Amino acid sequence: MNSLQDWEKAIRLAASRIEPFVTHTPVVPSPWLSDRLGQSVWLKCEQFQPMGAFKIRGAANALIEYCAADRTSKAVTYSTGNHGLAVAHLCRTLGIHGTICISQHVPEHKVKKLRELGVQTVIAGKSQDQAQRVAEDLVRDQHAHLIAPFDDPAVIAGQGTIALELLEQVPDLAQVVVPVSGGGLIAGIAAWVKSQRPHVTIIGVSMERSPVMYESLRLGHPVALPEQETLADSLQGGIGLDNRYTFSMVQQWVDDVVLVSEAEIVQALVHLALREGLFVEGAAAVAVAWALRAGHKLSGPTAIILTGRNADIAPICRAVNTGIGNILQS
Ligand SMILES: *Cc1c(COP(=O)(O)O)cnc(C)c1O
Repeated sequence: MNSLQDWEKAIRLAASRIEPFVTHTPVVPSPWLSDRLGQSVWLKCEQFQPMGAFKIRGAANALIEYCAADRTSKAVTYSTGNHGLAVAHLCRTLGIHGTICISQHVPEHKVKKLRELGVQTVIAGKSQDQAQRVAEDLVRDQHAHLIAPFDDPAVIAGQGTIALELLEQVPDLAQVVVPVSGGGLIAGIAAWVKSQRPHVTIIGVSMERSPVMYESLRLGHPVALPEQETLADSLQGGIGLDNRYTFSMVQQWVDDVVLVSEAEIVQALVHLALREGLFVEGAAAVAVAWALRAGHKLSGPTAIILTGRNADIAPICRAVNTGIGNILQS
């Protein structure tokens, strides 16, 4: 799985496999952003997926590839939340035994949802990396299949199906803007877009608080950073020091990775809610936040991936309350 042709094939296969489990999400024009930025801006609404995030795509493709042939096989994963929710939901749908390892920092509302879905949850360690090690031990001990959240070819190909849909829905794009954490989402999107329309620019956006992919790119190799609290909690976590796929794909096919502040994230969240009637989580708002700042630099018709809607409302309310004057003036 190195060349764009390999990825193109894998993404086409993924699209047909995952069809019964995912939504063909709408792309809506954003009159507010288009007007403000002087370019057509489109929003790909992955927050409408089952379980509220795009993660269902990669999880479905990986579970079908690794587990579906043998229904007695077990799936294990670790996750900051949305990937875990998707795996839990799909395990129930497909009748696969699933176990989810999550760190102590995953918000309580997400843990509660996982338990309600009936999967085994193991709360292990202070970080995503520690939860990952516990999951890998379980995989060895139970002969289970690891459904990794991002650094896996089946997961990446599943996320790439977003771009396959997007280019059918809006054929004449100049630019796609994508939130980045572990990079499975942007790697899959970039692979498809560069295989079909090499001239289209791919921009990744992360938060300023511990942007692991950004720092890794800057230093030329995967690095680890301590986690910090952020409104974009679904973007927390590392890329893995032994990253095998996403880091080099991002290096090759992503044109730029940029950062936004917490204040910019909350502004984007509030504007999306008030002006477009779209409620998303902080991780999904980072790309809108960057577009607002980078308005004059948009190079043509732009698609922004809205990635999910599973927000813990309390931190958003706190951020709005401390900065509301600022938000309403801008
Ligand atoms: C996982 C996730 C991302 C980032 O995806 P990666 O593949 O880890 O880069 C962005 N937004 C939401 C809502 C997510 O759940």
